[in-house]
Amino acid sequence: MKGWDLHCHTVFSDGTYSPTELVRIAKKEGLQGIAISDHDTIAGWDEAKKAAIVEDFPVIRGTEITSQHDDKNRHVSVHVLSYLYDCEDEHVLNLYAQMRKRRLERAQLMVEKLSQDFPITWESVLEQVHEGDKTTVGRPHIADALVAAGIYENRSLAFAGAISAKSPYYIPVLSPNVADVITALKNAGGVVVLAHSGATSRNRQLLSDNDIEFFAKECGLDGLEIFHRDNSAEQRARLSTLADRLGLLKTGGSDWHGLGKPNKLGENTTDNETAMEIIHRGRIRLLP
Ligand SMILES: [Zn+2]
Ligand SMILES: [Zn+2]
Repeated sequence: MKGWDLHCHTVFSDGTYSPTELVRIAKKEGLQGIAISDHDTIAGWDEAKKAAIVEDFPVIRGTEITSQHDDKNRHVSVHVLSYLYDCEDEHVLNLYAQMRKRRLERAQLMVEKLSQDFPITWESVLEQVHEGDKTTVGRPHIADALVAAGIYENRSLAFAGAISAKSPYYIPVLSPNVADVITALKNAGGVVVLAHSGATSRNRQLLSDNDIEFFAKECGLDGLEIFHRDNSAEQRARLSTLADRLGLLKTGGSDWHGLGKPNKLGENTTDNETAMEIIHRGRIRLLP
């Protein structure tokens, strides 16, 4: 048995496979279970639940929310994984609606800028969205529109070029405060884990031990994603020591995006005991 992959994206955000395909592939790979964790949306949950029943394969419903931590010296983008929360909770729904609105506005502004130099339009970006209104339109779709227009050979090259965070066309998204996000999700009964918080490639500055201690003690943070390709051996050791000290769960996941990224499903996993604890803590049950 290969453990649980608790970090997987589908077409409902920037992955390339449907939740049903995700479940089938995970089952074939011999994983014990998976979590669907699309960016800032629960839109894939219904399909994921149906696939779990049809394939008789455990699926934890979750989300990865982009948030922001700012203090005097630190401005850190923080990805918050949250599992098995009540998705009809009013605070959580408001949080998501607000975030999707911000992302959409940002994407429109970027396309406006790009369209002055490249043959793309907002319509050509929307053509790259495969799940209509249910998907959070973002940079991957703009990248795909640039590929479709023949500017780049593939999505990765577009991300290294005009879509890059260093590009003059880039516009940052304003994200909600991390403590507010954790608190809202905890209030909705979620099990909350900070994703890849040792990823020096993603942030100039990382969350400090004190920051994480605050989230654990004041906001009810449940765990840290330690086993992730972007956490170095040194960072894994640091986060693991910290998790032990604070009594936090230690999780792992591949951050799978199907064909959109090189990450292989199950390349990092969470052990069965930890997955069971998450299922035990979550407000909603795995199956209805
Ligand atoms: Zn992430
Ligand atoms: Zn992710």
